[in-house]
Amino acid sequence: MGAAAELRRLAGAALDALLPPRCLSCGTGVDRQGGLCPSCWAGLTFIAAPLCACCGLPFEYAVPGETLCGACIADPPLFARARSVLVYDDASRPLVLGFKHGDRTHAAGPFGAWMARAGADVLAGADLLVPVPLHRWRLFARRYNQSALLALAVARLSGVAAAPDLLVRRRRTRSQGGLDRTGRQRNVAGAFALRPGRADRVAGRTVVLVDDVLTTGATLSECARVLLRAGAARVEVLTLARVIKG
Ligand SMILES: [Zn+2]
Ligand SMILES: [Zn+2]
Repeated sequence: MGAAAELRRLAGAALDALLPPRCLSCGTGVDRQGGLCPSCWAGLTFIAAPLCACCGLPFEYAVPGETLCGACIADPPLFARARSVLVYDDASRPLVLGFKHGDRTHAAGPFGAWMARAGADVLAGADLLVPVPLHRWRLFARRYNQSALLALAVARLSGVAAAPDLLVRRRRTRSQGGLDRTGRQRNVAGAFALRPGRADRVAGRTVVLVDDVLTTGATLSECARVLLRAGAARVEVLTLARVIKG
């Protein structure tokens, strides 16, 4: 065991001594920090191949390697590939929302480990991890950006550098909830920008955008547009969960 891993183990053991470990989703007692109770674990749907080669939508039947889903053929996203760990559903929602709004920031480590595994393909060629930014007022109210915590956790495990402040949200956008695909695209159009003076970090690089949930991909496509315009060679996406319609 390396020194860093040993320190982490000791820190984990110290935390265990202070706080009884709780399930990341429902809060019942579990045997170690960062885990889930058996019933929450059993409810989760982990996304696995076969997948759409672009957006990572799981297919029900085996397909040839580079098969795309209907949505990616009809309206190709600006990012090259997206990969996600979990289906966003009734079982994963409390996990995601507790992390986003409920101060369960200690979940970033375990989530980052899942993301590093599910995103091994996109991380293999990546130069930079960039979280989707919050508007500064929202960041002030919430105190942390859940996507930045995920990007930092994935960076620690994968060795790919993270640039948590590379993108900025120029204006507040209303919540994407309740909007259809077109409404979502319109809501986030022009909402993001590269932080001034950072173009040299992006030019010619493969950038992986990190977010908690992929819904229609409108926000991630808008961030990809900014990065590609700034000269990124390729933009990929890694999220904790994704919505699967129908
Ligand atoms: Zn549980
Ligand atoms: Zn697709």
